[in-house]
Amino acid sequence: MTVAEIIIENGRLITFDDSNGHAEAIALAGGRILAVGSNAEIGAMRGPDTRTIDAAKCTVLPGFIESHIHLFSGGLELGLLDLSTSHDIETVTARVRAYSAEQPDVPLLYAIGAHYDLLGPGRTIDRHGLDRVMPDRPFAVMAADHHTLWANTRALELAGILRGGSVSEGSEIVMGADGLATGELLESGAYEHVLAKTASGGRDLLGMTTGNDPSPPATSQQRAADKAVLRDALRHLAKTGVTTFHNMDGNLYQLELLSEIEAEGDLICRGQIPFHLKNFDPVDRLAEADEMRRRFDSDWLWSGRLKLFHDGVVESGTAAMLRPYPNWPDSTGAPLFAPEQFNEICVRADAMGLQISVHAIGDAAVRGTLDGYAAARAANGVRDSRHRIEHIEVLHPDDLPRLRALDVVASMQPLHAPWGGLFAPPKEGQVLHEDQKPLAYACQTIRETGVPLIFSSDWPVVPVEVLPSLGAAVAPKGLGGNWTDQRQNLHDALASYTSTAAYAEFSEGRKGRLTPGMFADLVILSDDIEKVAPEAVGALSVRLTICGGRVTYDAG
Ligand SMILES: [Zn+2]
Repeated sequence: MTVAEIIIENGRLITFDDSNGHAEAIALAGGRILAVGSNAEIGAMRGPDTRTIDAAKCTVLPGFIESHIHLFSGGLELGLLDLSTSHDIETVTARVRAYSAEQPDVPLLYAIGAHYDLLGPGRTIDRHGLDRVMPDRPFAVMAADHHTLWANTRALELAGILRGGSVSEGSEIVMGADGLATGELLESGAYEHVLAKTASGGRDLLGMTTGNDPSPPATSQQRAADKAVLRDALRHLAKTGVTTFHNMDGNLYQLELLSEIEAEGDLICRGQIPFHLKNFDPVDRLAEADEMRRRFDSDWLWSGRLKLFHDGVVESGTAAMLRPYPNWPDSTGAPLFAPEQFNEICVRADAMGLQISVHAIGDAAVRGTLDGYAAARAANGVRDSRHRIEHIEVLHPDDLPRLRALDVVASMQPLHAPWGGLFAPPKEGQVLHEDQKPLAYACQTIRETGVPLIFSSDWPVVPVEVLPSLGAAVAPKGLGGNWTDQRQNLHDALASYTSTAAYAEFSEGRKGRLTPGMFADLVILSDDIEKVAPEAVGALSVRLTICGGRVTYDAG
């Protein structure tokens, strides 16, 4: 009999193996799961060098698969001033000035996490307000949703856009009646000018803004700094039980840095980096996606995905809607791609065997994405393509059955939903029509149609910690009115972070279940998750993470 390198005993294993849903102990060797069974069965595989871990009756799960994050910016933001808990100008001013004193040398003070009421209820955020917060140094703050950046006058001057500037389609430097920028910068094509002036040079966001590599190429000093950021990010993932991540922005630069980190033995989490095509790119750039897939194709680091953004976000009116917003009667938002262009990209990428992930938040963007997937089927025939739609915050009832009919994977974020408790629900007449609410953030409704549903954080939009997201899914805040109850049962919610997420990346044969032969990727929680009340799930933590048979986090 093979000797185990690691044995975990006295556990409450949830295996996601239909024939053996629960077990007590597990043996690992050679980066794989050797056996799953009782303490006695697994104990028989102990040798003199076996490490034994007592799970102390806590839950043991397959390692979490985080299906939608932005690793580079997430890592970078770990070190920035987070204003997500500030909602009045006095607090913001005190915190920003304290931060300024700690950071005397950075060219542009950069904070994150702002909610739309950052300066107080009903107060719009603009350069004048931010000038009061920080009059004498360039200062900018990113919205929690990462779709808007607000900058003060000094920052706009430094970036050369105080009098406006050219931006790509779908982005906007909002201009005031005085002919100067207001300080509100909508979407990445507008705010990249300001981020380029931050200490990190905005390199973390290139995978989002253009999908290109740094130009001029990063210096060796910059590469080393960026690798340190990515290492921090990987450690942060391990701490929350994540053993695989799907990045949702991409460029070759990130793949190269992660591949160097892998060679140095520090890639402690498996990850996929997509190719990101923008609406201003020629479709022939898909050849680069093919090149990325060819060069990076290991169990630890791979590509093979195409990421597209079809619209923005509801809160700023950039999500593409089928009819005007209730509070902006002249505006529906606009899809970022023309239908013919989008369909052509889907047909070509699908024919190349790339998996497609599309950011689609408004009901028009979701419909346009489904139309693109339908066009791909019509042209290429039905393939096992597992194309995904990211977010699906607003869905027209006619499109609900199309998700299943087109075999789409739904990728949703419990903590983005108003019932998740982090973002306040919109007031009546604000951004959503009452009749849109029943199918808004409709995780459970979508799940019940048989669509594979996967969960994630979209870190750094919300914290990457998995248990708070699971907690939101199993114990949503009741909103009443026209909102529907989207409560998930615990096993389904866990599957969305494990077995279903493995299916979504074509890895169901090697990940997402605790069965012999699968990768030794697993997590031990701080308690028995099946015994605690749903309301307590979000407060659980991770005790130990193992990825590829190696302990990547140990709370001690
Ligand atoms: Zn995202």
